[in-house]
Amino acid sequence: MTANRDTHFDPIRFRHHLHRYPELSLNEQKTASEITDQLLKFGLTPKTNIGGHGLLVEIKSRNPGPTTLLRADFDALPISETAQHDHASRHHGCMHACGHDGHTVSLLTVANRLSQHPPASGRVILLFQPAEEIGQGAKMMLKDPRMQDLQPDYVFAYHNLPGHPLGSVVIKSGVFACASIGVKITLTGKTSHAAKPEKGRSPAPAVARIMDYLHQMPEAFEEAFSLVTLVHVKVGNEGFGTAPGRADVMATIRSDDNYALEHMKKSLQNFAKKQAESYQLGMNIDWIEPFSATVNDPIATDMVIKTANSLNYPVITPTEPMRWSEDMGEFLQQAPGALFCLGSGVDHPELHNPDYDFPDALIGRASRLFLTLIKQLHG
Ligand SMILES: [Zn+2]
Ligand SMILES: [Zn+2]
Repeated sequence: MTANRDTHFDPIRFRHHLHRYPELSLNEQKTASEITDQLLKFGLTPKTNIGGHGLLVEIKSRNPGPTTLLRADFDALPISETAQHDHASRHHGCMHACGHDGHTVSLLTVANRLSQHPPASGRVILLFQPAEEIGQGAKMMLKDPRMQDLQPDYVFAYHNLPGHPLGSVVIKSGVFACASIGVKITLTGKTSHAAKPEKGRSPAPAVARIMDYLHQMPEAFEEAFSLVTLVHVKVGNEGFGTAPGRADVMATIRSDDNYALEHMKKSLQNFAKKQAESYQLGMNIDWIEPFSATVNDPIATDMVIKTANSLNYPVITPTEPMRWSEDMGEFLQQAPGALFCLGSGVDHPELHNPDYDFPDALIGRASRLFLTLIKQLHG
């Protein structure tokens, strides 16, 4: 390989650096260029600006063999960090509260090792994905023509998971993480004097019915696991003199089945439309941040479990899918593979919490698991 290889890569230092300077989804320009620079220091040549700030690097053997794609995400969240540690976020109102800094550094550690010890056969693709939190990054990357000829045989990724023993592997075959979508329903009527509400058209009764419908939706769709969370409601403005003329209702809908989610969407749309009509309101419905269900291939799941066993990592098989969503589901619609979790510690702060910080001890564990998996697939 090239002479400028970085033999002094310090994964924890790099992780802390990324943590200090987080960037929101679709704005990860600096993070992408830091990852690129690091790959170049390893003597690797990444392809950059794939579907936005995405990038990937291929490490090939001369011998024919399978193609394995490993994916990490690198965007942060609009949350203010409360921790006081030395690597706390320097970007106000933005933090790596989901551990994507750790996922990225785990994959860079794999890149460093493979740059020195390439696979004996086939090809390993290390893919760094932006904009996971808003469900856009995977789709944007997959649309890029440069992704078309990659055709991986297997795709793998991991997410850290608080509430489970540090380094334990949580994985199941079939649906691993739910499909989800956000909905914003805007109802427009006419404001009026609060003393003469009959002169206006208040959206309040329609809002009450829609809220009730959202609450009852999971019971009505019991063919699949489903969950509806009302996240925001606004009716009119604060003021005792005016009856409201506008309302917003926002909710998140989840299901372990893509078709069930579609069914729920249609029913909600029809119900809201009927309410708008009967109360003579204008209605607009926006669907935001759609995620497909993440479905794990049984053979790929088995490979991860066997690899974990060979490393003496405890394996936990959940009976139900994770309620959250992950846009790794998009890659898993293109090729068989698996998303698994690595426990972040039983008492570790939850994902998306302001006191969360990725546990550094997972970097070595994750990269070892990936490298062992690659050894098994590529020799
Ligand atoms: Zn997240
Ligand atoms: Zn995440």
